[in-house]
Amino acid sequence: MEKIIEIQHVSKSYGYLLNKVKVLDDLSFSVNKGEFVGIMGPSGAGKSTLLNVISTVDTPSSGLVKISGKNILEMRSGQLSDFRRRKIGFIFQDFNLVESLNVKDNILLPLAIDHIPVHTMEERLQHVAEILNIEKILTAYPAAVSIGQKQRVAAARALIVNPMLIFADEPTGSLDSKAAAELLQYMSEMNRQDRATIVMVTHDPYTASYCNRVLFIKDGSFFSEVVRQGSREQFFNQVIDMQATIGGGNRLDHF
Ligand code: ADP
Repeated sequence: MEKIIEIQHVSKSYGYLLNKVKVLDDLSFSVNKGEFVGIMGPSGAGKSTLLNVISTVDTPSSGLVKISGKNILEMRSGQLSDFRRRKIGFIFQDFNLVESLNVKDNILLPLAIDHIPVHTMEERLQHVAEILNIEKILTAYPAAVSIGQKQRVAAARALIVNPMLIFADEPTGSLDSKAAAELLQYMSEMNRQDRATIVMVTHDPYTASYCNRVLFIKDGSFFSEVVRQGSREQFFNQVIDMQATIGGGNRLDHF
């Protein structure tokens, strides 16, 4: 199995001296090419921080982050931004759509930078727009579309580059259940057909049930993992059981 992500002894703290808070505490794990991995844990466990560190958006206080064998902490910033643009799709909570561009141009933005031929862009656009059900709003501006539609536009923009790695933070957070199922279905297809590796943070067991493996973290440390073996429904139940074991509390519950 080819390891695409390797995290070794990663810690992350915020603040100084007495105010120092350790958000990630000596985490080590790897993700193989073609996996669809979920990250779950109570609120405040460090899930988003971990995803930011793995996805090159943030840097750890100590430890090593390798993607495709390369230590990303040693990459020069130009190399890193090329790598992000060409190889990684981000589906994060804040959509970061450009308000002055319509939906279509927002989605095509990552391709435009790389001078991809127009017909190729149009083909890919049609494909993602159809699957994410946003064909009818392609000429609308972000201000005029709903939150759920914005999320799907952001997903389309992330997926149009056919990324080898997809990072998603609560990708279904503001979608209704039908739109959520459609997006998850599409992500699963990208995972199966295109062998895209996906790492997704979620608090929702239904969303997590689309993964092959779910890592649970608590107080910034590894707690356990659940690997899918049977049906999605069985996996869903395993995820719920583990959620009950880990408990819903965050640090503040101790006070
Ligand atoms: P989760 O995604 O599991 O809810 P986060 O990774 O968002 O958890 O946050 C983990 C902890 O780190 C929280 O206690 C949060 O308050 C703290 N934290 C996150 N970002 C910062 C920051 N920039 N400065 C200080 N503390 C932060």
